[in-house]
Amino acid sequence: MRLLIVEDDDRVAAALSSVLGRHGFDIVRARTAARALDLMHTRPDLVLLDLGLPDRDGFDVCGRIRKVSNTPVIMVTARAELSARIHGLYLGADDYIVKPYDLRELIARIHAVVRRSRPDPLAPADVDTTGHVGGTATRPDGQATGGAGSTGAVVGTGAAEVGRVVETRGLRVHLDSREVTGNDGRTVALTRKEFDLLAELARAPGVVFRREQLISEVWGSSVQSASRTLEVHVASLRAKLGDPCVVQTVRGVGYRLAAAGAPAPPPAEVARAGTGAAVAAVEQDTDGPELAAAAAVKRRRRA
Ligand code: CA
Repeated sequence: MRLLIVEDDDRVAAALSSVLGRHGFDIVRARTAARALDLMHTRPDLVLLDLGLPDRDGFDVCGRIRKVSNTPVIMVTARAELSARIHGLYLGADDYIVKPYDLRELIARIHAVVRRSRPDPLAPADVDTTGHVGGTATRPDGQATGGAGSTGAVVGTGAAEVGRVVETRGLRVHLDSREVTGNDGRTVALTRKEFDLLAELARAPGVVFRREQLISEVWGSSVQSASRTLEVHVASLRAKLGDPCVVQTVRGVGYRLAAAGAPAPPPAEVARAGTGAAVAAVEQDTDGPELAAAAAVKRRRRA
């Protein structure tokens, strides 16, 4: 994923580039507004836009970017004032983050914004039986990089949002009707938040979602206050779905929904409820949060 970092402060830019680079992002950097607009031809997947630039206001840059492209923009601002944030959002920013910020939060926001900006990977015509997503390289702004044309899928316009069903390990998640049917075809009764959590994971089966990202998307609250809540919901989801391996733990990072077509663990392993051997295996091949995040980024890129 290519990020255009627009930041005039060399120290900040260097630190950001280093951390984000280690998380698997390709970094392009602009020191000025003019250079940022020049670099839009490199078609970044996201622009991280500092508001205080030497030659032009970041708001102005955002407005200009919006005139030519739908590339997601996250404004980075020291201005915590509500009016500045609202102004930025009206100008077309997709999100904002206020300095000083936690890098983990920034990375979670980058993933969330990019995910929302992409064509829905759950559009039926776009998903094959192995759970691999095809044609995700077309964006609403027409920055097609190939793949989607032959499926005829309508992407990024909301039209593909109808009738979305995600299927994995015999489980069917009907995202529009908010229904879940299990292996036996019977409806699984979930609470609202349990469904929200499952639906969030179902946006990209096989991709690891960070804990903080899930908490922010599902509960809209901070990690500290909702961490235990997340664990409780995961446990109850596993119990209600009757398959401990459908929601997998990636230790130190977060959770993922088992990808469709992934080999089922042997019955003896499934029978071990709770964490299950397949989940343990997932945990073991995770070397750490950063590697897992980088792997997730690579998976997204391949998708
Ligand atoms: Ca600045």
